[in-house]
Amino acid sequence: MATLSSKIEWTESTWNPVRGCTRVSEGCRFCYAERIAARFSGKGMAYEGFAENTTTGPQWTREVRPVRALLNEPLKWKKPRHIFVNSMSDLFHEKVKFDFIQEVFSVMEKANWHKFQILTKRSSRLLKYNQQLPWPPNVWMGVSVEDDRVIDRIDDLRQTKAKIKFLSLEPLIGPLSDLNLDGIDWVIVGGESGPGSREMKREWVIDIKDQCERKGINFFFKQWGGVRKSKNGRELDGVTYNEMPG
Ligand code: SF4
Repeated sequence: MATLSSKIEWTESTWNPVRGCTRVSEGCRFCYAERIAARFSGKGMAYEGFAENTTTGPQWTREVRPVRALLNEPLKWKKPRHIFVNSMSDLFHEKVKFDFIQEVFSVMEKANWHKFQILTKRSSRLLKYNQQLPWPPNVWMGVSVEDDRVIDRIDDLRQTKAKIKFLSLEPLIGPLSDLNLDGIDWVIVGGESGPGSREMKREWVIDIKDQCERKGINFFFKQWGGVRKSKNGRELDGVTYNEMPG
């Protein structure tokens, strides 16, 4: 079975055992997954019924469902790799039943030659189930934080038993000048990309990099973003920051 390789700079493959999502905060405003899902929502396509193109742009339909047929995919991928879990949704979405989340964890535990990277914006639901989840060392758990209005997500993550904890500060749309990085192993920073993308200021990025350096935390600078992200690249003052745990 072929793996789905990813263009996302900090992973190698994606695995999407859930389809559909809903917006939860400002970071979702130009959701990339919603845009892709709407593009593949035609009759007979994978995202039919999950998203649609409307006069105001792509929109989720609010349908969220597990895709059982994809549940065991990582077990078939023999070559070890970093796998981003649910790049097109949120595993801790309210409509994903806890039983299914447990099944996803059970596959990750079995496929122990891979490293799984989960990202959520539903950190309170993550925390709610924390004690009941197994947390093998190959599961990296992260929260997305776009500005200081949702900084509490980091406190929720910190309380979990995940062995590797990380932050995705993307799309960074405001300064995060006083981060509590205790217990955090990895920080990714990236700007928003695509039409309408909001600016990420250089001083915000430098400030976060300095906070990571002071604490000895792995720092990964993903991209500047913008309407034409390839033009803006991913160097910060001439340096490419690719640090990762381990
Ligand atoms: S949680 Fe993620 S996938 Fe869901 S709408 Fe927000 S950005 Fe998109």
